[in-house]
Amino acid sequence: MKKISLLGASGSIGTQTLDIIRMHPELFSLVAFSVGRNIEKAVEIVEEFQPKLLSVQQREDAESLRRSVSRGTKIVYGDEGLLEVACHPESTVLVNAILGSIGLSPTMSAIEQGKTIAIANKETLVTAGHLVTEAAKKHGSALLPVDSEHSALFQCLHGEKVEQMDRLILTASGGSFRDKTREELQGVSVEDALNHPNWSMGAKITIDSATMMNKGLEVIEAHWLFGTPYDQIDVLLHKESIIHSMVEYIDGSVIAHLGTPDMRIPIQYALSYPDRLEIRNAKRLNLWEVGKLHFEKVNFERFRSLKLAYDAGRTGGSMPAVLNAANETAVAAFLEGKIDFLTIEELVEQALEQHDSIQNASLDEILQIDSETRSRVQSLIK
Ligand code: MG
Repeated sequence: MKKISLLGASGSIGTQTLDIIRMHPELFSLVAFSVGRNIEKAVEIVEEFQPKLLSVQQREDAESLRRSVSRGTKIVYGDEGLLEVACHPESTVLVNAILGSIGLSPTMSAIEQGKTIAIANKETLVTAGHLVTEAAKKHGSALLPVDSEHSALFQCLHGEKVEQMDRLILTASGGSFRDKTREELQGVSVEDALNHPNWSMGAKITIDSATMMNKGLEVIEAHWLFGTPYDQIDVLLHKESIIHSMVEYIDGSVIAHLGTPDMRIPIQYALSYPDRLEIRNAKRLNLWEVGKLHFEKVNFERFRSLKLAYDAGRTGGSMPAVLNAANETAVAAFLEGKIDFLTIEELVEQALEQHDSIQNASLDEILQIDSETRSRVQSLIK
């Protein structure tokens, strides 16, 4: 039985993680979880899974929950609460599906306890990849990807020799605006941006797909997860999202991972690894139904955010943390209707220009840079 701590249980990945746990009660159990402010959902999860611990964002919510939910579940809150969930003594696996760089500190603590980390929170590796991978090595903690592209790469690399790998090829759907020119992106609405053609995901990541910053964050994530230099990581536009990523080897062989766009597959593989389990009600891939697969070279002028991410990754040090914090702040402002779509990448670019990267930054320095970047971008928005 794998006992699971889940950060971010009410989001898209969190909900699908619960689906997987529900499907295999003999293999997985939920011992601790967190939600933000979705209290109704928290109550449902407690009733169904009877976990030992729940953490919510606000103290008031924790107090009212203590009066209403069963006594078997301890209720905590805030940043301390997230840490407690991540480090619950009974759990051996942490699924980090929380949004944003707030997931970093709890993940680091769980790694120090040698827990297996199923990483769905890409910000953790983007902002502090050097610290996370080093700590994981030191404490013998396995980092298993949940992101569909990285799960695909992980599977294509399985049993192969790293030194015989030539290139990682991440596929990108291009997001909701892939067929628009830069001129046509002027003044696009939040609703249009949220309308992703293939994947159903949370708002932040859907906007990141539209700007392609999501792919940029994934390139940095791949660099840390697989220890691959940026010159050996390529992005390929593939609008059907059927090939989830590929690995090219020195003999010219390319191994691809295919499947329907269903996030439960990579989530489950991270939990069941190295085994595979059946998924009920999952649509199987019928290539004859898909008919055609399309591929296109990425235009970095058109998808500037992707270029910014490669540049930040290559500079390294604290630069990717600035990239991420500026992007999170700008995307939130776009979702609130405060800025235009194209302003997102302008703000990110300005934040990167204003930052002198610190190599080998400590966790405290990263967190400090993260919060300074947020305030700087906030003041640019005003
Ligand atoms: Mg992805």
